[in-house]
Amino acid sequence: MFVEEVPVRTRSRVEFVNIDGLVRDFIKKSGINEGFLTLFVPHTTAAITINENADPSVVRDIIRTTSKLVPYKGDYDHFEGNSDAHIKASLFGHSETVIVSGGKPLLGTWQSLYFCEFDGPRTRRLILSIS
Ligand code: ZN
Repeated sequence: MFVEEVPVRTRSRVEFVNIDGLVRDFIKKSGINEGFLTLFVPHTTAAITINENADPSVVRDIIRTTSKLVPYKGDYDHFEGNSDAHIKASLFGHSETVIVSGGKPLLGTWQSLYFCEFDGPRTRRLILSIS
């Protein structure tokens, strides 16, 4: 198994960062061409997801709709004032597993991996493993 932790810099409070390039670099560096890639976000207000890469309005729609479902200011108890970020992180989830074949992640044509920031901007951690 090959494991690495990489920083992900986010620039907005809510932002989806395309991490396809970072993932391809990691697979290449691992030297493992066939296996399972696991991505894990070790944060309570960030997440990871897979969705469309062709039309950037899809990510904008996801962010806008999620913000309506879970508004920034709401009837929350959490003292930090970022309950929306905690809730969104749990809704999206903290890990993804992708099959790797021929040294590439087996994603659909229109799919990309996104690091989901819900309480930025800041420098985050992403843990990748392949086996
Ligand atoms: Zn909090």
